[in-house]
Amino acid sequence: MKYDYLIVGAGLFGSVFARQATDAGKKCLVIDRRNHIGGNCYSENIDGICVHKYGAHIFHTSDEEVWNYVNRFCTMMPYVHSPMARYKDKMYNLPFNMNTFYALWGVKTPKEAKEKIQSQIEKTGAEPENLEEQALSLVGRDIYKTLVNEYTEKQWGRSCKDLPAFIIRRLPLRFTYNNNYFNDIYQGIPQEGYTHIFERLLEGIDVELNADFIEEREKYEGVAEKIVYTGRLDELFTYMHGELEYRSLSFDTVELETDDFQGCAVVNYTSHKEPYTRIIEHKHFDHNNAVTDKTIVTYEYPQKWERGMEAYYPVNSSSNDLKSEFYKKEAKKRGVIYGGRLADYKYYNMDKTIRHALDLANSVINSEGNN
Ligand code: FAD
Repeated sequence: MKYDYLIVGAGLFGSVFARQATDAGKKCLVIDRRNHIGGNCYSENIDGICVHKYGAHIFHTSDEEVWNYVNRFCTMMPYVHSPMARYKDKMYNLPFNMNTFYALWGVKTPKEAKEKIQSQIEKTGAEPENLEEQALSLVGRDIYKTLVNEYTEKQWGRSCKDLPAFIIRRLPLRFTYNNNYFNDIYQGIPQEGYTHIFERLLEGIDVELNADFIEEREKYEGVAEKIVYTGRLDELFTYMHGELEYRSLSFDTVELETDDFQGCAVVNYTSHKEPYTRIIEHKHFDHNNAVTDKTIVTYEYPQKWERGMEAYYPVNSSSNDLKSEFYKKEAKKRGVIYGGRLADYKYYNMDKTIRHALDLANSVINSEGNN
């Protein structure tokens, strides 16, 4: 056989695995059904602005090894993510912090804010039965109504009363004037865009695009000793244990004749008034954003997922998780190595994706070395 590994998916998981295997002396072929590398991290330069094609991507981590690893393939620009929320005609800082509480109630000290939230929290005494009860028990009525309720209903296309409580396990509250969305030690945006990271990761590795493993199974099954699969396992195993559920998104990207549309990279629209959940203004990821007199914005619309659409978010109910475990067992039985957000059926941030890919590559390559 020509290759040691056929890696299905040129996203972050597949590309990191391919780099590690190649550096360990293995020969890899990476294929992707899309017409580009990078998976959901893919970015494109449009008129001097780096556009995140599949939604806003901010790299953040507290994993030093992962931070050092990603910095081998790009120069990270310092960036602090400070999104805003718009509910009807008022603006609020995110994450929920003293600036948010001041805008909501005029409270100025952490003590006042804590007292206000405590007075609003609603607990039934029993375990919350739905997302609304869960959110009310965590943050109280005003925050729920202004920043959680309608936004979540747009995201999931269902009333919060009909959504399971597990969707919101925590709603962190920060009692300082700190708009930094993430708590991680490291945070940044790659200076030359995300796609550049993938070009570097895949340097010297054979890559085939517009190549769908499911459609061209016969062609690809025999090309390598082992398959590393980063797509959906239910699709791979022809839905033998049933279909896994997802939520999808659609993106509408437009160029505007103004140098600054919204003053920050991301605004969440938390009311039903607008059908979209977020507007991303891409130039704000870049400190040189003043250099163009135009701007590019992307409206993000949540979508019901159906076969043939991009599967963005797993719906981790207990029945879906159980099905996903059956598929993972099937993969193990057939000797398919799998990983990444689709095959694992888990939402992973980029740092976790890299961590899993590094760990899996290490263990697979080491175990082969011992054979
Ligand atoms: P993917 O990027 O999805 O790559 C999988 C690839 O496999 C795809 O390119 C797909 O086309 C290909 N594939 C699947 N099946 C087949 C097949 N049968 N044949 C050929 N190819 C196939 N993370 C952060 O850290 N910070 C953020 O700010 C952030 N924002 C996000 C915003 C959105 C809207 C979304 C959806 C995710 C965000 N993430 C963020 C998460 C980040 O996108 C993921 O961590 C990362 O993309 C996972 O990489 P992956 O390789 O597992 O999956």
